[in-house]
Amino acid sequence: MKIGFIGLGIMGKPMVKNLLKAGYEVVAFDLNQKSVDLVVAEGAVAGESISSIAATCPVVITMLPNSPHVKTVVLGKGGLLEGAKPGLKYIDMSSIAPLASKEVEKACAEKGVRMLDAPVSGGEPKAIDGTMSIMIGGEKDLYEEMLPIFKVLGGSYVLCGSIGAGNTTKLANQMIVAGNIAILAEALTLAKKAGVDPQTVFEAIKGGLAGSTVMNAKAPMMIAGDFKPGFKIDLHIKDLNNAIETGHGIGSPMPLTVEIQEMLENLHFDDKGNHDHSGLAEYYERISGIKISK
Ligand code: NAD
Repeated sequence: MKIGFIGLGIMGKPMVKNLLKAGYEVVAFDLNQKSVDLVVAEGAVAGESISSIAATCPVVITMLPNSPHVKTVVLGKGGLLEGAKPGLKYIDMSSIAPLASKEVEKACAEKGVRMLDAPVSGGEPKAIDGTMSIMIGGEKDLYEEMLPIFKVLGGSYVLCGSIGAGNTTKLANQMIVAGNIAILAEALTLAKKAGVDPQTVFEAIKGGLAGSTVMNAKAPMMIAGDFKPGFKIDLHIKDLNNAIETGHGIGSPMPLTVEIQEMLENLHFDDKGNHDHSGLAEYYERISGIKISK
């Protein structure tokens, strides 16, 4: 089967490689020609334009930064809906605001295009391994039809509800991850200030109730003082903005998320937006005068 793939960034490139490995024909597009060249070298075909991809591929996937990018690619001039024929199946795997997913799906439905929102968790390593967690919103029959694709890209692929439910689930994921990283940085700062080695604290507690996937991934980075991304602070700001906007829109309380968003914003204006989100440790290092790393 031929799949159109738009958005060849940190996540999109390895996803395309896995689809090619699984035997799909992939027609790829990105504003960045270098990224297109990289996937063409792996066997993908360079798409001429977004509308031509929509006109010639029965399934199109997007992996773009945020809601405005998805709206431009789908609804904009020369976009997906300009080329799409009724019957096209569209999977948006970007992490965007649930309301934006609903808006885009409504415009798609008017043209006979069926859509799922299917954001992912797991970052670049799991995109490379094809073991991402995929959170899906949309109609059950379309989800079932697209399962072979999700099985190539993910280790888990859960239908969470109707359109937008995938992105609502992803917002919950990002709130929990941010909260875990922030309290980990606060706790390791306390340990260091009290004279206990953060590495020893990590070794002692990682098998207990406080242990987590987040702790296993991020404590070593804080202890090494290595904040190379991974998942950038600026992308986490984008996700928490979407979460806060969604929470405020439906009257769901967001006090902890807002507090952590302030810390991330502060790091952004300290030129650390490109650091890994474990760089929340740098916020605590600045206000405490204590470095978690040796
Ligand atoms: P990225 O910035 O590396 O890639 C985005 C790509 O989209 C870029 O190559 C850019 O050129 C392209 N693009 C933007 N506008 C475009 C347009 N109009 N037409 C064509 N291409 C366009 O981002 P990423 O890290 O690959 O993340 C993609 C999505 O996945 C985001 O929503 C992010 O939150 C989510 N995500 C990322 C990670 C991670 O660890 N990086 C993990 C889980 C989820």
